[in-house]
Amino acid sequence: MNTGKLYLVGLGPGDAGHLTPAAAAAIADSDELVGYHYYIEQVAGDVAGKVSHAMELGQELERAALAVDIAYSGKTVAVVSSGDAGIYGMAGPVFRVLTDRQWDGEYPAVETVPGVSALQSAAALLGSPLMQDFCAISLSNLLTPWEQIRRRLEAAAAGDFVTVLYNPRSRRRVSQLQEAREIYLEHRSSDTPVGIVRHAFRPEQAVSLADLGGLDGERLGVDMFTTVVIGNSNTYVHNGRMVTPRGYEVKG
Ligand code: SAH
Repeated sequence: MNTGKLYLVGLGPGDAGHLTPAAAAAIADSDELVGYHYYIEQVAGDVAGKVSHAMELGQELERAALAVDIAYSGKTVAVVSSGDAGIYGMAGPVFRVLTDRQWDGEYPAVETVPGVSALQSAAALLGSPLMQDFCAISLSNLLTPWEQIRRRLEAAAAGDFVTVLYNPRSRRRVSQLQEAREIYLEHRSSDTPVGIVRHAFRPEQAVSLADLGGLDGERLGVDMFTTVVIGNSNTYVHNGRMVTPRGYEVKG
């Protein structure tokens, strides 16, 4: 009988305090780790004695295949993602590889340990922006065609969804955030609050507020370590906090 096990572990935003006890237990239970090693050490502390397979960006399928091989060999392996592994994380590549290998659903055992995703960390630092219906959109067009992302932005803007933007901007991808701003300005006023959270719960943490009209990624330092939250038509700022009312009252 194959006794291998694969954990999909969300590490949370990046500090030990927001790593769940279940995530720490899964890492402790594992023989081998797949993920960014320095990051695992930073949040999970002592990982000495574990074989660890570092991961480079763009190698997700290869790393997922390696982890699945380890689990099929009878060992216990943890595949880690920042935030939650099931939100723009390693769960996708792992289940893709399992599908390709016609995994029988039982062996190796697969267990997902949820983590605190960037949208929760960002919201906690900003105030209460996610108090009405919201959605998450990744602006990375490496795996999704930009036309499809554009359509989703248009639908979310028209639907008055509070919108959390993951992967908003990198050194090479600078136009997407500016295009998103233009789409939202067609549906929302230029004073709509926007929250910008960089490196949530890490030593470099920076939180700032802007408005939709002034959403300039370059000037505001938006990069790949940043999550951007665009308010809806009810969102307001009070004493530096971004507030979307629950619906008991309506602004204006
Ligand atoms: N699985 C992760 C998301 C990975 S996609 C999760 O659930 O949070 C990578 C994007 O997540 C980054 O570009 C950024 O937009 C966001 N992100 C991840 N960690 C973050 C943090 N500590 N602070 C701010 N944004 C973060």
